[in-house]
Amino acid sequence: MNLRLPSVTRPLFLKRTLTTGLALTALSAACLLMPGCGMRETTMEATQTVAATPTGQKYELKLHHLHTGESIDVVYRVGNTYLPDAMDKLNHFLRDHRTEDQSHYDPKEFDLLHQLMAKLGKNDSVIDVVCGYRTPWSNNFLRTRGGTASPAQTGVAKNSQHMQAKAIDIRVPGVTTARLRDTALSLHEGGVGYYPVSQFVHVDVGPVRQWTFAGANSD
Ligand SMILES: [Zn+2]
Repeated sequence: MNLRLPSVTRPLFLKRTLTTGLALTALSAACLLMPGCGMRETTMEATQTVAATPTGQKYELKLHHLHTGESIDVVYRVGNTYLPDAMDKLNHFLRDHRTEDQSHYDPKEFDLLHQLMAKLGKNDSVIDVVCGYRTPWSNNFLRTRGGTASPAQTGVAKNSQHMQAKAIDIRVPGVTTARLRDTALSLHEGGVGYYPVSQFVHVDVGPVRQWTFAGANSD
């Protein structure tokens, strides 16, 4: 008797799951057809936004993208709150300039840039962005320079933090690449890559590490 039980209960269980799944689908479909359905959630969200107007220190970044030619001047954080609209703008600004794809940047990366500029005494200055987010396609393209070089010749990592939206390559006008590197290293916040020939510094919020790439990097 006992041995036969599983073969009886299993189909029953499957049937119940299927029924529940269908019921939920029917409910969602009905909801789509009913005006006002889902309004309660929208209203609650709006109330929360109004109630949670953040106060405190304003964190601002001024960036110029060397590939797209775009500039952005944005307060992305107030006190301990990251502003969603500003995050959207920054994610778009830092999109992969080859494919136009964008990602969701780790806000800590913006704090890192802000901290870096504060330490340089240049919070009102513009950061030149050499490279932001990279799709895997773009990263691979850079690694092999479109098939004309080996990865060792390009200084581009296979699992680059750019693909995780945790890295940005930068220059700061009026600051030498070496000083920018030393200041980034003094923060002990993540990865710092020094590209003296191409004159930029890679800063990311991945594990703390450092490297120098003495060759030319096209990005
Ligand atoms: Zn980089």
